[in-house]
Amino acid sequence: MNTRALYGAIEAGGTKFVCAAGYGPRDIAPQMRAVIPTTRPADTLAAVVAFFEQVSASAGAFSAFGVGAFGPVDVEPTSGTWGSILSTPKPGWAGTSLVAPLERFGCPVALDTDVSAAALAEARLGAGRDAHSLTYVTVGTGIGGGVIDQGRSIRGMLHPEMGHVRVRRDPRDTHFAGVCPFHGDCLEGLASGPAIVARWGVPMSALPAGHTGPDIIGGYLGQLAATIALMFASERIVFGGGVMGGADLLPRIRAVAAEQLGGYLPIETRAGGFERLIVAPALADQAGIIGAMLLAMG
Ligand code: ZN
Repeated sequence: MNTRALYGAIEAGGTKFVCAAGYGPRDIAPQMRAVIPTTRPADTLAAVVAFFEQVSASAGAFSAFGVGAFGPVDVEPTSGTWGSILSTPKPGWAGTSLVAPLERFGCPVALDTDVSAAALAEARLGAGRDAHSLTYVTVGTGIGGGVIDQGRSIRGMLHPEMGHVRVRRDPRDTHFAGVCPFHGDCLEGLASGPAIVARWGVPMSALPAGHTGPDIIGGYLGQLAATIALMFASERIVFGGGVMGGADLLPRIRAVAAEQLGGYLPIETRAGGFERLIVAPALADQAGIIGAMLLAMG
């Protein structure tokens, strides 16, 4: 009889739900994982529940669940719609509760955004292990960020939505209107994967050598990094996501952040300087599910 606490973790994404069960972030057996496509809410959530019921049948009752969800999602526990997806262009998902289907397991559920879950994992077990505060930015289909301070994600009326901050236009990029349906040329509207394809016809990874794209996109992300340093004083700023994998943007991000901050913050005088402040993820694509497991463990 196994007496260790069993946890369930869900990384609920716009294209797939990654599910895992185990006894800790480093203790997830291969047969305790499942990847379920995000289709209609009823179908996807039924498959999620079936997976965890199957695990429970052999491994016993769950102690808690952790969910890292695509957003916007209601993360306010006292709200009547806690755990529900808010406005989203994904058909059928607006108003869908991600936590109600888990009630049948009769255990606590912890929930945060997918990017805040990834930030938690990087802060505790990855790029921020030696820091007290960390911001994780994902640059892909959208741009999102999670801020961890003293081991917890910050949140308020909603989770952070730092992809929608305004940035100063690159002079080489004045004719593109941007793709954000709410703001046009906010950061996400200018530097997300869809913005890159809309402007140059191909993703970041397919731009020809010598193209100005990486320089322009890296510059916008550098402006965000400077803003994060000013707003949250994060000791570590991690940039991940599909666009980051398409080119080596970190040197440009660091250079623009340094230029924009103008020596105002004590970064260059610290060991490692901007190379230590602005980094790549340490947990690769596992940060989200590890973070969901950490959420379950409390
Ligand atoms: Zn926007």
